[in-house]
Amino acid sequence: MSFLVKNYNRKKISFVKGKGSFLYTSKGVKYLDFVQGIAVNSLGHAHPKLVRAINQQSKKLWHVSNAFQIPEGEKLAKKICQKTFADLVMFQNSGAEATEAAIKVARRYFYSIRKPNKNRILCVRNSFHGRTIAAIYASGSKKMTEGFGPKIGGFDHFRFGDHKSLKKKITKNTAAIMIEPIMGEGGIKVIPDWCLKELRKLCNKKKILLILDEVQCGISRTGTFFSFENSKIKPDIVPIAKGIGGGFPLGAVLMSKKVASGMVPGTHGSTFGGNPLAMAVGNTVIDIVSSKKFLKKVENLSKYFLFKLKNIKDSYPHIIKDIRGKGFLIGIQLHKDQTIFIKKLMENKLLTIRASENVIRILPPLNVKKNELDQALKIIDKVSKELN
Ligand SMILES: *Cc1c(COP(=O)(O)O)cnc(C)c1O
Repeated sequence: MSFLVKNYNRKKISFVKGKGSFLYTSKGVKYLDFVQGIAVNSLGHAHPKLVRAINQQSKKLWHVSNAFQIPEGEKLAKKICQKTFADLVMFQNSGAEATEAAIKVARRYFYSIRKPNKNRILCVRNSFHGRTIAAIYASGSKKMTEGFGPKIGGFDHFRFGDHKSLKKKITKNTAAIMIEPIMGEGGIKVIPDWCLKELRKLCNKKKILLILDEVQCGISRTGTFFSFENSKIKPDIVPIAKGIGGGFPLGAVLMSKKVASGMVPGTHGSTFGGNPLAMAVGNTVIDIVSSKKFLKKVENLSKYFLFKLKNIKDSYPHIIKDIRGKGFLIGIQLHKDQTIFIKKLMENKLLTIRASENVIRILPPLNVKKNELDQALKIIDKVSKELN
């Protein structure tokens, strides 16, 4: 019997080892892992440079309090700011902490400029910003909040794509709009660049902040460091996590100098956030995934993969309804429930994970090889054929 709380519906399989794109069971059975901890292991399993970084740092220093200077964190924050819109960074340990800290930053900013009533956050209904008590109410999903009342106030919602309702829901008390540029859990729904541009204009006009939750879609997953980069807009606050730690728990909130002005000493903290061990890994991940050559490769290979997936869709239009996504954040939307399809992929040694709207999420490591993609395509084609 298991002594773990049953808050997950776990598959009856476990792994003892991982290498690159593959996972191995105790019996040595090899699986192509296109879950990668849900877009977390951006460089696959046991990447030699990450293994070295964590080994070396673990011999020196794991953890010190944020009461002291942490040079490894200074270094990572500087790198992030040099590569992005951000002026300042605040380290956390996970996505939910980062999105909640983003909300705190937005509210505190308006408080600090003497507009304390400007504190409401406008989000997409059925989005995903994490599982902590405020984040579930930010996500505005009945399923996630059921039984966890009383309701946490301060959040308003509009439906994805419903621009009229979005405009209507903005009031003088709205502090920020928080959205995922690509909805992950929600079914890999991409917000187009023109839409992001309009959203930025709207926020400027209404003097509200724009928070882009890049926890799942960020850190080079879409072929640019942030998924919103091609839109050329500048957000005010960006929470990140998942991919930046390459498998080690690490999150952060990135922000402009302007909005950070409210975060004076004592306003926020995290015991573990930004510790030297996490920083050593983060520094190594960012050096690899933000190089031009690396990004170009993600772009090219993911385009090839998406093209091939669309071919499979065209061969089995009664099974596959849509191929969605950008870069290596991909969704195969089926006409029907995806459970059997995912099970069959797994029987063929390909691991994938579900999302809303009958979507199968495909999340290869960013350094996946072409022949591994071809292997996955073959399996997806085979299963589509079997279920046709
Ligand atoms: C996963 C995710 C989160 C929450 O991250 P945790 O590390 O699980 O707390 C928040 N926002 C988005 C968009 C995510 O995909």
